[in-house]
Amino acid sequence: MDGPAGGQRESDGTAPAVPLNIVVLGLPGAGKGTQAALYGRTHRIPQISTGDMLRQAIAHRTPLGRTVEAVLARGGLVDDATIVALVQERLAQPDAARGFLLDGFPRTIPQAEALDRLVDGRGTLAVISLEMDPEVIVERILSRRVCEGCGQTDVGTPPADFCASCGGNFVKRADDQIDVVRQRIQTYVDHTQPLVDWYSARPAFRRVHGDRPMAEVAHAFAAAIADALHIQG
Ligand code: AMP
Repeated sequence: MDGPAGGQRESDGTAPAVPLNIVVLGLPGAGKGTQAALYGRTHRIPQISTGDMLRQAIAHRTPLGRTVEAVLARGGLVDDATIVALVQERLAQPDAARGFLLDGFPRTIPQAEALDRLVDGRGTLAVISLEMDPEVIVERILSRRVCEGCGQTDVGTPPADFCASCGGNFVKRADDQIDVVRQRIQTYVDHTQPLVDWYSARPAFRRVHGDRPMAEVAHAFAAAIADALHIQG
């Protein structure tokens, strides 16, 4: 999609002229991680997944990991202050200066308000809501596997043996069990759906329909970001 005259993504072939500050919202299993990873790779901006950061902390038995383990196991939400501190630290890293893709954050209105403060002065925040029917989601999550090395989801048919990005093994996520999945969907409906409504009045908010082939979603996803930020796709 074309932006306004002079609206450009690349200024010198390496650095984007407009920072690509992007939030991806969507039910667990809607494809946020897959789309964020793909877009992040092609546009050279980091995909920041709070879920992956928390799972890494749990795997490494850090103090944070020990604190949040039970919350993830039951499909609840980690408290806002802990998550905001994690994101604040990550957004301050140099690789996020040209933009970032937040996947799984914010999940509550207080987190979104904190994010607004964190990105104040850093350019427009595009908010993409990846939308899917919750019943399709349950099937999708129960059959998915993720790389234990880098968190990438295996979407191939037939399933891959090893992760093409890091060589890690694909495993089932500990919280991809039916009861926990239903609780995570309920948590989304209770806490994150109101956030989608809260963001929906903003000019840089876009909805993308996620229940279609991955490449089609990727195309619509990139077009929605370009449209929201008035850049070339
Ligand atoms: P995800 O990989 O995004 O599905 O996140 C996995 C789990 O991590 C969630 O079910 C929550 O328990 C926790 N989590 C991830 N991001 C957040 C967040 N922004 N706020 C609160 N809890 C989170």
